[in-house]
Amino acid sequence: ATPMSIMVAVGRGAGMGVLIKDAEALETLSKVDYLVLDKTGTITEGKPAVVAVRAVPGQSEEDVLKLAAILEGRSEHPLGRAVVDAARSRKLIIGEPEDFSAITGGGVKGRWNSQEVAVGSREFMESVGAKFDATLDPEAASLRKTGSTVVWVALGDQILGFLAIADQVKATSAEAIARLHELGLKIVMLTGDHADTASHIAGQVRIDTVIAEVTPEKKRDAISKLQAEGHRVAMAGDGVNDAPGLAAADVGIAMGTGADVAIASAGITLVKGDLLGIVNAISLSKATLSNIR
Ligand code: ADP
Ligand code: MG
Repeated sequence: ATPMSIMVAVGRGAGMGVLIKDAEALETLSKVDYLVLDKTGTITEGKPAVVAVRAVPGQSEEDVLKLAAILEGRSEHPLGRAVVDAARSRKLIIGEPEDFSAITGGGVKGRWNSQEVAVGSREFMESVGAKFDATLDPEAASLRKTGSTVVWVALGDQILGFLAIADQVKATSAEAIARLHELGLKIVMLTGDHADTASHIAGQVRIDTVIAEVTPEKKRDAISKLQAEGHRVAMAGDGVNDAPGLAAADVGIAMGTGADVAIASAGITLVKGDLLGIVNAISLSKATLSNIR
């Protein structure tokens, strides 16, 4: 493409809310055959809400929610916000943790009333030494199968219960993915969430391949693997934990509604943050590179 045609495309993109960083991003996009999508905030709204709280026998659901909110008040993760909102709307008193740390892709831990508290995925709970009994497993499993993320709460080494947190699929995601399929792309979902939760969301929007339960570093490895197989890979994401993947992809696509570091790592930014922007961006790149040579 000529510099002039690129300039025209960049201008046209801007008019559609597709911000193109440079000529290379546009040219590479026209050759992409795989699109990797982050789940939370990219396919889904990224506005999760607590839909269920469960306690093991002898514990109260209020305490489960309250303990989780004490830690999540310090978290910057969207799941953390959902937990705090749920505790506030139930008028629970949220104390301050005595110590706090966030483990990316796992959860949060800290101390309250001189006891260790942890909130997060099952693997994360196991990594901090919390012991599971099977009482809540069937309920946790069935909530995951409806697309909820299950987050466990432990006090000391005892699991007190879990929170089920649900996030709606964006209204435009299914249509966008159907049109991307028409453009010949394979669509991969990449998430740190449980495989059952991921599969339910993937089924709603017809994702080709689901890669679940991956840490942020492994997200980058998944992209490198596709590239090693000979694919040209675009990745779209919104979070701090997507930045390495966006940088590793042949083209990174950031949601304009997402984290600044995601936008900085990407060649293309979608102002509106919905997946139809990717359809527009790819159509524009193909038109620019096939018409004018
Ligand atoms: P995603 O790939 O969907 O953006 P993350 O990599 O951020 O997900 O997190 C993976 C999993 O780790 C979540 O599904 C959740 O179980 C757990 N997790 C991460 N952060 C938190 C948190 N602040 N509170 C509770 N659980 C968390
Ligand atoms: Mg995300």
